[in-house]
Amino acid sequence: MARLDRLIQEYVHDPYFVREKYLDPSVCGSCGVLFRGGIFEWPDKKVENAAKITCPACRRIKDNYEGGRVFFEGSFMVEHKDEILNILRNTEEIEKKHRPLERIISILEEQGRINVATTYEHIARRIGEAVHKACKGELRIHYPEGQKYVRILWRRGD
Ligand SMILES: [Zn+2]
Repeated sequence: MARLDRLIQEYVHDPYFVREKYLDPSVCGSCGVLFRGGIFEWPDKKVENAAKITCPACRRIKDNYEGGRVFFEGSFMVEHKDEILNILRNTEEIEKKHRPLERIISILEEQGRINVATTYEHIARRIGEAVHKACKGELRIHYPEGQKYVRILWRRGD
C-alpha cells in the first residue's frame, strides 16, 4: 500500500481532496483521471459504472487555487525563453504520467519573466529543478506556509 500512503501524505491537507467523498471508482468528466482503490491514476481503458466527478486538479485549475508558483527571470531567460518553455511543458508531461493531479495551471509571459502557477507544490519544485539542471543559474525555493504551498525563483543573469 505504498502508493496509497504516499497519496494520503501528499493530499491529506488538500481542501479539494478531503472535501469530496469520491465513490470508488469515479472518473473526472474534465480530464478523464480515474479514482480507484484510494488513488488517482490514468485509466488504460474505459471503466464501467464509474461515478462522474471533477477531480481535485481540475477543480484547482477552474478556481485558480494554486499550490505553487515559479518565476523564471534574468537576461539568460529572455534569450532562451522558448527552450525554458519547452522544459516546463516536458516536465509537466513526465510528472503528470505518474502523479495525475500535478499540473500547470497557467504560464504567463510577463515583462522580463515567466510566471508559472501549478496545482501542487511537487510539480512546481520539479519544474524549477529541471530548468536549474538544464540551464544552471540560481534556484531559490521558499515555503511561506509550510509544506502546502511553494514559491520558487529561478534566475540567471548572463
Ligand atoms: Zn480532472
